[in-house]
Amino acid sequence: MTDIEIANSIKLQPIENIAKKLNILSQELIKYGEYKAKVTAKPSTKAGKLILVTAINPTSAGIGKTTVSIGLADAFTLLNKSVCLALREPSLGPVFGIKGGATGGGYSQVVPMEDINLHFTGDLHAITSANNLLCSLIDNHIFQGNQLNIDENNILFHRCVDLNDRALREVTVGQGNKNGIPRKDGFTITAACEVMAILTLAIDLDDLKMRLGSIMIGLDKAGNPVYANQLKAENAMAILLKDALHPNLVQTLGGTPALIHCGPFANIAHGCNSIIATRLSMSLADYTITEAGFGADLGAEKFFDVKCRTAKLKPNAVVLVATIKALKLHGGVDKTKLDDENTAAISLGMPNLLKHIENITQIFKLPVVVTLNKYSSDTNNEIELVRNTVSKIGVPFVINDVWALGGKGALDLANTIIKLCDKDNSSFSFAYELNQTVEQKIKDIALKVYGAKDVIFAEAAKNAITNINKLKLNSLPVVIAKTQYSLSDDQKLLSRPKDFNITIRDIEIRTGSGFLVALAGNMMLMPGLNSEPAAINMTIDNNNIIKGLF
Ligand code: ADP
Ligand code: MG
Repeated sequence: MTDIEIANSIKLQPIENIAKKLNILSQELIKYGEYKAKVTAKPSTKAGKLILVTAINPTSAGIGKTTVSIGLADAFTLLNKSVCLALREPSLGPVFGIKGGATGGGYSQVVPMEDINLHFTGDLHAITSANNLLCSLIDNHIFQGNQLNIDENNILFHRCVDLNDRALREVTVGQGNKNGIPRKDGFTITAACEVMAILTLAIDLDDLKMRLGSIMIGLDKAGNPVYANQLKAENAMAILLKDALHPNLVQTLGGTPALIHCGPFANIAHGCNSIIATRLSMSLADYTITEAGFGADLGAEKFFDVKCRTAKLKPNAVVLVATIKALKLHGGVDKTKLDDENTAAISLGMPNLLKHIENITQIFKLPVVVTLNKYSSDTNNEIELVRNTVSKIGVPFVINDVWALGGKGALDLANTIIKLCDKDNSSFSFAYELNQTVEQKIKDIALKVYGAKDVIFAEAAKNAITNINKLKLNSLPVVIAKTQYSLSDDQKLLSRPKDFNITIRDIEIRTGSGFLVALAGNMMLMPGLNSEPAAINMTIDNNNIIKGLF
């Protein structure tokens, strides 16, 4: 059965029943039909355990983190534990780019999956609108006489759209005689725009407004920063975001509550769901299961160093997901031969998994369990090889089969995590300290987490650092935009590459979200489509039956 057929075969519960499991009152719900609702309840001071699901460097099809997170949460439900998921909401870019949504798969899904994958409750639309409202206010200000003396060649805030659209990376706005001053601009995908990051990190409406107002939109002609609040933009932007600020409640196929809210990518943005949703989940459930995007070098690092630091969260346990297929890929096997048994390739790919274990236990100092997300092609020899290698270094290893079995496929994993959550997490540490220089922060991530030899700063990056220092923004955390496929910034360097440098091309300032974005290698904040995008094989008929979407 396809994912959508499985999803449609299971009867959903009214969303009020799911809310009741978390003691959310019906007056705290803004319903969007029968099965989706926004939750207006505020997080309390109570804080349950926080479990992060992360992974080794993925294949282009993913590793199954979302699928495992959902199945794991259903296993907690089967064990009668109070549990809630805190996940990201999908962007339309990947949905129409590479095949597949972001709502899990098989018997581990959040539903209604077609709604969640498409427009859901409109959060991404609201974010896009708020972002582009500010852009229109900037260009209008310049058009109307430019009282703030904004330098149109030094505007740092860009337009966004929630699609993979390469042609919009560099554009000229204001062309024609009556349309303002022509200037170069460029679009970012909504998942990587600053307003997405702001909504993800804001703790309430006041904080949201403050962050929106403190977006540095660019420099004036004397080189001084200009902020969104000088254009009086923050209230109108917050009005557009007032509903988007509330987390969305849905359910898994196993009836577990899931808060799905905000969706920054982990390769070009900071990769985690909202602080509001995570805090709410932790205050309503004994166990919160959350996912950070892509491999642990990207999503988990940013989850710890940016999100946990900002929100003062201390995770209790980390689940590191691996697959036999991805380990073989790291071992040099061709994509078309991943189903053939190949223990030699797994041995060559294992150093990738071992490096991520090292990072979680030695840099971030948290308890970890490795779980193998089982595919039907995995052989016993292959599984035993991974189990032995992981067990030898004293790290727990548990197979899960949530894709085929749902929650029943992760009971052992859930029990292992419950024990792991009782371990001491008080040594939780960051990869870098905020009071270090910008160069040192980037070096700490690159050398410690990625295992790089050195960092090379291109001319534009050096100039950006000079500017950042001049503006006294050097104490901000750093988000590195980097390929997800490799620990390095070269997607072809698999397993655990050695002797490589990380090249920082440029650094963007994000004073509203409160971090710097360092662009590594040729990573773009607007993805492109591939030669055969999923979009061209999709159909819809007169009965609204959609094919090819999932
Ligand atoms: P990630 O969150 O790591 O990107 P997902 O959970 O979204 O990965 O899974 C990526 C794709 O792989 C989805 O289409 C999912 O249905 C599929 N998938 C995940 N686990 C399995 C499995 N064990 N067997 C078969 N397909 C799987
Ligand atoms: Mg995912």
